[in-house]
Amino acid sequence: MALNFAKAEFARSAGTRDQFLRDGLPQFAFAGRSNVGKSSVINRLLNRKNLAYVGASPGKTTQVNYFLVDGRAYLVDLPGYGYAKVSRAEKERWSKLMESYFQDEAGRITAGVLIVDIRHKPTADDVTMHTWFRESGCPEIVVANKLDKLKRSQVEPALTLIRETLELGEGDLLVPFSAEKGTGKEELLGLLNAACGR
Ligand code: GDP
Repeated sequence: MALNFAKAEFARSAGTRDQFLRDGLPQFAFAGRSNVGKSSVINRLLNRKNLAYVGASPGKTTQVNYFLVDGRAYLVDLPGYGYAKVSRAEKERWSKLMESYFQDEAGRITAGVLIVDIRHKPTADDVTMHTWFRESGCPEIVVANKLDKLKRSQVEPALTLIRETLELGEGDLLVPFSAEKGTGKEELLGLLNAACGR
């Protein structure tokens, strides 16, 4: 049966690897650079205004946040990256936490969701995160957020630039999305459910 994403609750924040949840439930890991709209996308999927904290001071919270969905899966909110003003110490904490997550959890990630900004060429950090998902062996869904900020004629060229930069092939999944308007929500939920049923 399809997961009811509207039935979600906060489960845990993990700041160190010993705090990762390992109860065997499927995990959907969401990643994206600071300010790309990751919290907004998550809140849109979970039908909530503030479950994931929108506008949290970028880079202040280097934590992995788990939301239990329908009692049967976790939506995992990985800490955002790429915020220029973050201290070196904080960046190192981020790298260590992410390395631990991918080392420990790779086999448990049911799907990776990489959120990029549809208006911009994916950054070097986006490419790195994309590589980590690929290397973990999980199916990956690239979400191109802030679709509402583009004119219709700009959409295809923007998607092509994302495909080229991330070297996406025919079968790779790229979903134009607007957390603001809700566009793409049903498609993304369908893909997450499909990954879960595999
Ligand atoms: P995060 O740092 O990646 O979690 O980003 P947030 O969810 O806090 O969003 C950053 C900013 O982008 C906020 O001002 C959001 O309102 C805005 N935002 C997020 N998604 C969209 C979108 O799809 N369209 C538009 N126009 N703004 C968005």
